[in-house]
Amino acid sequence: MKQKYLFALVGLTATGLILAGCQFMEPSAPSPTAASGTVATTAVAVLSREPEPSPTSPLTVWPVRTVTPGLALRSPTPLQTAVPSPTAQPAQTAVPTATARPVTATAPSPPPGGSNNGMVILAFADAKEGAYSVAYQAMRTRGVRGLLYINVEPVEQRLPGRLTPEQVDELNAAGWDVASHGYTHDDPTQMTSQQLTQHLQGAQQWLLGRGYTRGARHYGPPSNNCDQGTLDAALKYYDTVWCREFSKLPAGYLFGVGACGNNTGWEKIQSAFDKLVGQPDKVLRCSFHDLVSENPTGNQADLDRINTILDYLEAKKIEVVTLSDLLDGTIP
Ligand SMILES: [Zn+2]
Repeated sequence: MKQKYLFALVGLTATGLILAGCQFMEPSAPSPTAASGTVATTAVAVLSREPEPSPTSPLTVWPVRTVTPGLALRSPTPLQTAVPSPTAQPAQTAVPTATARPVTATAPSPPPGGSNNGMVILAFADAKEGAYSVAYQAMRTRGVRGLLYINVEPVEQRLPGRLTPEQVDELNAAGWDVASHGYTHDDPTQMTSQQLTQHLQGAQQWLLGRGYTRGARHYGPPSNNCDQGTLDAALKYYDTVWCREFSKLPAGYLFGVGACGNNTGWEKIQSAFDKLVGQPDKVLRCSFHDLVSENPTGNQADLDRINTILDYLEAKKIEVVTLSDLLDGTIP
């Protein structure tokens, strides 16, 4: 399985803004529907597909749906059929309590931490063991948390090179988002509706059964494979879906995505981070697929890369947050 995002040159036609090195999705314009917590549809998202697109791909604009932060969230739909899970928690435990960030009708509030800069989400896909043995070890000492998009199957089956359930428990306990990348890594757009239900609901039930209530609200499809049907189905179970134009993400922010493996030049990543300075409504997801302590190949990142990123963000006072932080208003 090969996954690769590329930083791309992107035009936000709605604003005439061109961003090189990262891409942002426009937040919704304030509207009565957004304020009342239903779906708001707005401008602009660009995300390169996997496998990597041609660098000459035309620029594209897609609608993006947003979740207004601070609103009561839908509980995951209780499982009506089998998958007995004695440890599963009742659905209502997944609903965050009261600490929601107030919603402003006009503009996003700056992060409560006082920084006037945008934020970064460090995201790790596919339950690769390096997320624990390399990334977490580097991040924990700095009090920085990440977002895991995991497939259940390789974790449950304890496949070599993947996170064990115990490692995932530890990351969850450390405040990471343990989110869904589906039950398997199969393409959800090619599934029957029954398979899609198992992919989405089965994965969420597993996450909830292990107590990962924060992360179980988030879904990111394997290899960025998604369509309207995937989004609609996913929204029956999840509060956020992050997949190109078929995304639903916390309102009030401009979201961008870029690959942070060693095969993306550091200057490119640095320049994407620099665009967050003085832009408190921007959130850049820095995506990793595997981490190794040294000698990275392909889209792997090594320890040096993650430390370089963490040093730079610290120096620039760019906060590292999780998706749940944005949804729940718990930005550090
Ligand atoms: Zn993946």
